[in-house]
Amino acid sequence: MASVQTVQGAVEAADLGVVLAHEHVRFRDEAVASEWPGRYDEGAEMRAALEAVRAAAERGVNTIVEPTAMFGGRDVRFMKSVAEQTGVRIVPCTGIYSYDYLPHYFENRDADVMAEHFVADIERGIQGTDIRAAFLKCAADAPGVTDNVEKIHRAVARASVQTGTPIMAHSMPAVPTGPRQVEIFEEEGVDMARVQIAHCGDTDDVDYIEALIDRGVYVGLDRYGLEVLQPIDKRNETTAELLRRGHAQRLMISQDFCASIDWFPAEAAQTAENAGAIRNWSMTLVFDEVVPALRELGVLDDEVFRTIFVENPARWLTA
Ligand SMILES: [Zn+2]
Repeated sequence: MASVQTVQGAVEAADLGVVLAHEHVRFRDEAVASEWPGRYDEGAEMRAALEAVRAAAERGVNTIVEPTAMFGGRDVRFMKSVAEQTGVRIVPCTGIYSYDYLPHYFENRDADVMAEHFVADIERGIQGTDIRAAFLKCAADAPGVTDNVEKIHRAVARASVQTGTPIMAHSMPAVPTGPRQVEIFEEEGVDMARVQIAHCGDTDDVDYIEALIDRGVYVGLDRYGLEVLQPIDKRNETTAELLRRGHAQRLMISQDFCASIDWFPAEAAQTAENAGAIRNWSMTLVFDEVVPALRELGVLDDEVFRTIFVENPARWLTA
């Protein structure tokens, strides 16, 4: 099996072990953080990241796929420090996380030039380090696949075709963005077995998700704990039905947890928990509640667990 880039260098895919396919050790706007650093407490951010990742490690997690890209405050030095202090491998990406906005820098350059930036992260290193990106990230959300979003998708696709690097695409089933995202990748000649459409578990429309799987991609059931989008029980029903339909080899289960996030004032997390918008959102929820529930439903045994948490991420990252 081929190797996978982590923030501590390349490892054999077979050594990735138990993988959480979508978690963030920190999520913040790099422009705000750069302009007003006093608004951020880096020590507290690091403590939150270490606490979250150590808790996952206690549940047997060996590797975290970390899809923080541009506009999420990607910082591979921060990630490397977390990996060194916890012993958990972190798999970094390149790409742009935008629902539409692009800086003038990229507005006035074409998709091929944008792709060159991603390829540099993949082949040479990120942010002046020798840490190389293991996958590509793009996003489509409520505004749909706008011209700018399409441009990012095409740049990601071209970098993937050029380098053989896999893709993770944030999606919004409510719009729904998934089919058009897949179509763009197909038009660009991407190997669909290297594509993961994230956040498909935000819908309980199993046929919608299955239609994406039928086009050859992986789907992320990766926002467990974000009750406001879909409660855990409903997410479990969707996961169980996809397993009953024989799709174990195409599923990624994760939480999209952010150990810290600057989108809301500090007190908002408690407000959201109190209002039921999030519940037990963490890097351990899937092991504490979801896996036991799926075992109870009779759709997950040790073999299926291994398929979803060990084999699928390794295959997506290296196939
Ligand atoms: Zn995410």
